[in-house]
Amino acid sequence: PASNSGEDKDCCVKVAVHIRPLIGDERLQGCKDCVTVVPGKPQVQIGSHAFTFDQVYGSTGTPSSAMFEECVAPLVDGLFQGYNATVLAYGQTGSGKTYTMGTSFKDGCQTGLIPQAMNALFSKIETLKHQTEFQLHVSFIEIHKEEVRDLLDASSANKPETTNGHVGKLTVPGKSPIQIRETSDGVITLAGSTERSVQTLKEMADCLEQGSMSRATGSTNMNNQSSRSHAIFTITMEQMRKLHPMTPSNGNANEDLNEEYLCAKLHLVDLAGSERAKRTGSDGLRFKEGVHINKGLLALGNVISALGDEKKRKEGVHVPYRDSKLTRLLQDSLGGNSRTFMIACISPADINAEETLNTLKYANRAR
Ligand code: ADP
Ligand code: MG
Repeated sequence: PASNSGEDKDCCVKVAVHIRPLIGDERLQGCKDCVTVVPGKPQVQIGSHAFTFDQVYGSTGTPSSAMFEECVAPLVDGLFQGYNATVLAYGQTGSGKTYTMGTSFKDGCQTGLIPQAMNALFSKIETLKHQTEFQLHVSFIEIHKEEVRDLLDASSANKPETTNGHVGKLTVPGKSPIQIRETSDGVITLAGSTERSVQTLKEMADCLEQGSMSRATGSTNMNNQSSRSHAIFTITMEQMRKLHPMTPSNGNANEDLNEEYLCAKLHLVDLAGSERAKRTGSDGLRFKEGVHINKGLLALGNVISALGDEKKRKEGVHVPYRDSKLTRLLQDSLGGNSRTFMIACISPADINAEETLNTLKYANRAR
């Protein structure tokens, strides 16, 4: 494996591990803690295996603000320089992905990474808005069985699986399927999805809340879909920098030389559960879902590992973005000039040791 010294890592994907505490169920079952953090090092041990990451957040009282400051705040800052960014929460179902991201926004709870990112974004805008005009858009979608569902489209909520699950074959009346497109300059767009324009923190938080409710409703109808789908909350920020704000605009030809336009987006991704298909049951339907989810996570693993391999990159090795909807959607925000943090979420319980080891191996491949 490559050195862990941190050099050459600036352009790559960074990886943190978040170990949640034992939860009620695990305690009731008498589970033992089988994951150790090496004191003073970002290193995790399980059995005879040891892995080193960029950051490790242990189960004993790390304030959530530390994770935000170290992993996500630099990405939010990067948006103001025009860099796209992606935050990914990876791990088996129940490992704390949604808790860590704050994807299911409830009662104004501010501890997750998404609410903290929104706060930081608006604070920074507040300090800059005298010299810069900002426009913000939010989208919130879910990818399930390689199909995109719009979590902000009220009319698509509550649809039974048969209507929503086979768009393209059984066409949903009045609504064309959401398509991932690439413009000639490499910008990825989601044609047909809701792009909500937001002016305030409250409006953005409402989008998160509305989408997470739509996701939860979908999941009871669709057999706990949420553990088998990727949820992607995307903030797009356009800025028009007025380099000479004191110069009155006379409508002269040089006017646009005084302004600088930047557009960048931040994807906050609560990935599908990483557990293997064999654990989700043997009936045909679920197995198929398992296969599809593996497709996204497998493609993501391959993309990230291709990006992380300096030598392969210099040889111009092909990065397989097109192998899944997830990687296709994130294409312009993974690699290149963009910044990515993957947060591998794990349970410390011995009954989960096998999946935890799988998660650590997957995350380790990303470095
Ligand atoms: P996932 O989204 O990966 O399926 P969840 O985020 O839903 O997992 O977490 C599973 C359970 O563990 C939830 O009850 C959640 O409240 C709890 N949990 C997760 N992370 C933590 C944490 N860091 N501290 C306390 N409880 C947590
Ligand atoms: Mg979840």
